[in-house]
Amino acid sequence: MEAGFFVLSPEHGMLIRGCSVLVLGSGIWDLGIDTFRCNGLSHLNKGLCVFSSKWFSLFSAAMLATTVSSPISAAQNVILIIGDGMDDQQITMARNYLHGAEGALTLDSMPARSAVQVITRASEPPFKPIYVADSANSATAIATGVTTSRGRISTSVEDVDLRLISQDLKEAGYAVGIVSTASVTDATPAVFMANISRRFCENPGAMQGEQGRGLFTADCPEDLIANGGKGSISEQIARSPVDLVLGGGMKHFEPLSESGQQTVLDLARSQGFRILETLDDIAAVQTELNNSATEAQVSEANRSSGEGALSSPSATGSAAADESRLQVSSSPRLLGLFTPSTMPVRWISSSGEAAQYPEPSMLNHLHEYLGEVELPEPVRCEPNAAYGATPPLAKMTELALAQLSQRSDKGFFLMVESASIDKQSHARRPCGQIGELAQLEESLQLALAFAEQSPGTVVLVTADHGQAAQIIPDGSMFAGYGIPVYTPGQLQRVITPEGSVMAMNYATNEFQAEEHTGVNVPLFGNEAAAHFMPPFLQQSDLHGLILSTFGLSE
Ligand SMILES: [Zn+2]
Repeated sequence: MEAGFFVLSPEHGMLIRGCSVLVLGSGIWDLGIDTFRCNGLSHLNKGLCVFSSKWFSLFSAAMLATTVSSPISAAQNVILIIGDGMDDQQITMARNYLHGAEGALTLDSMPARSAVQVITRASEPPFKPIYVADSANSATAIATGVTTSRGRISTSVEDVDLRLISQDLKEAGYAVGIVSTASVTDATPAVFMANISRRFCENPGAMQGEQGRGLFTADCPEDLIANGGKGSISEQIARSPVDLVLGGGMKHFEPLSESGQQTVLDLARSQGFRILETLDDIAAVQTELNNSATEAQVSEANRSSGEGALSSPSATGSAAADESRLQVSSSPRLLGLFTPSTMPVRWISSSGEAAQYPEPSMLNHLHEYLGEVELPEPVRCEPNAAYGATPPLAKMTELALAQLSQRSDKGFFLMVESASIDKQSHARRPCGQIGELAQLEESLQLALAFAEQSPGTVVLVTADHGQAAQIIPDGSMFAGYGIPVYTPGQLQRVITPEGSVMAMNYATNEFQAEEHTGVNVPLFGNEAAAHFMPPFLQQSDLHGLILSTFGLSE
């Protein structure tokens, strides 16, 4: 058998979950493809995928078993956790430190795992592929299903506004929440709520006048409301229909909005957002949500006992009846802005320093085979005093799960970003990265516990792009040659809790900040996700994959 294919029903269009028509054959389309390809999962609903024989027997068996024995209904909730810059180097670094070289992260317990191809376009025609992304274009691929160029917030390479997944889901009756340890105006959260040509046009004051250089320029006059645009990112968030936005970035909401009549924060209030600024604010809302959840349970119990089996959901289980149950609770929409900008990280190095260059001796400067080299002293990871009363990512995730559960009976989509895996790698600070990955783990544990209680919950974890940090030997394998062999990059040697030294290397450039890298990134899924995750996909396919998980098409 050289090749196999299957056809998907357009109505039910899911890879396995809704695969109402399954046709298997051989030798018809042998395209010589070694991996699973569907020319984009976004095209799944239209029909055809091709496997090479290598994958075919494995998947056909799995699909037949799943399709025939257990038809799966659409998910009620999708929790998408994004580790910014979280490639396998960053994951391995965190595993080594948090659980030891033979330990396992919560991520490692997830039953499904795929590889995601990160694709980026040049910003000038003919928009050729380039091989390293930024968070703006890679998250745009997830939020819109469209591949674009760096720095763009849900706009195409031709500067056309793209339809957001949050729009589709809100119109379909789902609640939507966005949580990040960055400013909520930062690229990854922003792509789910805004369309703008440059990621750094984060507030009304950054819309005009060249600020920054190149990719970092904040200048978007064409996006001013007066010029027919949608305004800055913070103004678009204030007007967004989403139910919950939590993170940093208060400084982007303090300026006057473009109209000059009110601050962006007041604009958000006028749109129905309740503003949260502290851990106490979070606790107060959680108490209110708990009380209203208890009241709802009591009234549901009273209703059931009063009306008996005649009105049980199963007796009235039509789509129309389900639709009539859809109700938006009176819990307010929430905008939490807990820090002026990016939230402080949990851990720093005991030296307080970032990675440093090894110091070769004078003799080694004369010839690479001579002299010796002094490596930076090993450090430990310690709590960051600046972290203070910063709300942990898990605390924000907990609030989001509680609030979104009450905003719509139909279900919700929640995006949670652990942002500083990336930002601390730019800064060459491995302890900051590890602490941020620990935060992601805590949020993932909450998400998985929620999914246990609500079986229709899909949990996905992925990264937007690779990062610079790389684990290298602490002591070169070529040391036996008797010559100094050391990295040309910057190094931080971290003493792990198991007593070894993990050498973290940063060597993408010699500038003040490291670069992203072009590696593919992982995608993890819980049991509910395992039914539809292919082994290899393009990042833009995640958009269609999430929509189809809800039973929606692109
Ligand atoms: Zn970055």
